Amino acid sequence: MSVILNAKPVVQEIKNQLAEEVSQIQAAGIKPTLGIVRVGDRPDDVYYENSIIKNCQSIGIAVKTYTLALDIDMEAFTNILRQVNEDSSVHGILIFRPLPKQLDENVIKYIIDSNKDIDCMSPLNMAKVFEGDMEGLIPCTPAAVMETLKHYNITLQGANVVIMGRSLVVGKPLSMMLLKENATVTICHSKTKDLQGIAKKADIIVAAMGKAKLVDENYVTENSIVIDVGINDAGDGKICGDVDYEAVVDKVKSITPVPGGIGSITTAILLKHVVIACRRSSNR
Ligand code: NAP
Repeated sequence: MSVILNAKPVVQEIKNQLAEEVSQIQAAGIKPTLGIVRVGDRPDDVYYENSIIKNCQSIGIAVKTYTLALDIDMEAFTNILRQVNEDSSVHGILIFRPLPKQLDENVIKYIIDSNKDIDCMSPLNMAKVFEGDMEGLIPCTPAAVMETLKHYNITLQGANVVIMGRSLVVGKPLSMMLLKENATVTICHSKTKDLQGIAKKADIIVAAMGKAKLVDENYVTENSIVIDVGINDAGDGKICGDVDYEAVVDKVKSITPVPGGIGSITTAILLKHVVIACRRSSNR
């Protein structure tokens, strides 16, 4: 029988801890606050924003939203971002991405205040991860993967981990986090030869490619621990992961579902980062 690595208890554990910390911070007269910068009205973004607001409210984090016109130019955008940087009542900033073409993320990532950068956009925060400093505002999705592995007591020391995907949002920073825990990490990508053979030798497989249901029974063994980071359109109005869940669920040791897996934990990590940023700014 495979173990299903559900997000619910992981999220609950993180939120319980945060609710306690938030009430301590509030008792000192400080209101932890997240600033969300959203450009345009993409339905996905609006849905995600509402979900984050609901989650923040559930543990006492306040939210300020900055909704900007889709055709906003770079100068106007950076002026607003600088204002949010300087607003001491906002502790964490989340900029929804991808941004429209006229807004250059490669410039913006140097403008966002690295102390408020809860989604690890700033190269300063990313550099810390590559130096082995995981105490700061690290990328949320890899952090969610690490929380899951920790919650379910999955041994990392000496484990062979295969990460499918080398993006700066998931694969690369995750490899650093796993190395720090003494795992042996193999990073695969679209030019990797024999992905199936490599995956089959792994103790832990992390799929983060954005390829719906690519990982099927040919990639796994009964000893595989499968972490599915993918969020893809399943074509039937639902979402699916990079793993063909139905095909592998009974053939592996354990597996994260989609939905109800890494995605939900990622949101909880965002909240955690708002609290970290708030504590640091107020020396609490
Ligand atoms: P990305 O920037 O497009 O990167 C995809 C990576 O997968 C690339 O390194 C690519 O290789 C590799 N890849 C693509 N096809 C492959 C194949 N057939 N075999 C092996 N490697 C392959 O994507 P991302 O932003 O990292 O996101 C990946 C997935 O995670 C997406 O489904 C996304 O929606 C999801 N995601 C989820 C969360 C969450 O909260 N759960 C957060 C972020 C992203 P190359 O480098 O060679 O192109």
